[in-house]
Amino acid sequence: MSETSEEHFEDDDDDELDADVVIRRQLAIAQVRQWGDPVLRLRAHEVDTFDDELARLAEKMGELMHNARGIGLAATQIGILRRLFVFQTRDDEEPIAVINPVIAESGGAPETDDEGCLSLQGVLVPVERPSRVTLVGQDVTGQPLELKLEGLGARVVQHELDHLNGVLIIDRTDRESRREALKALRPKPSLA
Ligand code: ZN
Repeated sequence: MSETSEEHFEDDDDDELDADVVIRRQLAIAQVRQWGDPVLRLRAHEVDTFDDELARLAEKMGELMHNARGIGLAATQIGILRRLFVFQTRDDEEPIAVINPVIAESGGAPETDDEGCLSLQGVLVPVERPSRVTLVGQDVTGQPLELKLEGLGARVVQHELDHLNGVLIIDRTDRESRREALKALRPKPSLA
């Protein structure tokens, strides 16, 4: 998931730093599978081995998400079909990795808000989701994890869990927004 208001993550107003941030973001996004890639439509597999390689993958995904200025990233988005995602809704917190995530409980009034996605560049569509969830899963060492989330946190984990099931925001938005999004995603004719 990309962030709706990108200003939130800006470090300061230094022009040189901004240029660096922009380049790092472009390099990161180049590593994220984009719309049209069939992997985005596949269901990821349960993780049953909790080893160093898994921990390194989670760390790498956290870095990639940070550099891409995203607030969530599912393994599917880098072409790895394993049930794992990372998310971070605040810049001053460490990314949280969740393995084999399941929504154990959801509730609260359903809320509609615009969502973007690192795999759907240039698309922002309204998505309605429950405003409160209890997410269970495991951490990178295999220890059980339970997170009670609301607001943005609840939204992000539902978005990332969707990725692990091959579901994208355009599947969850209204008909008109989907049509507009598909238009924006259509490859542009190239004259070169
Ligand atoms: Zn996404």
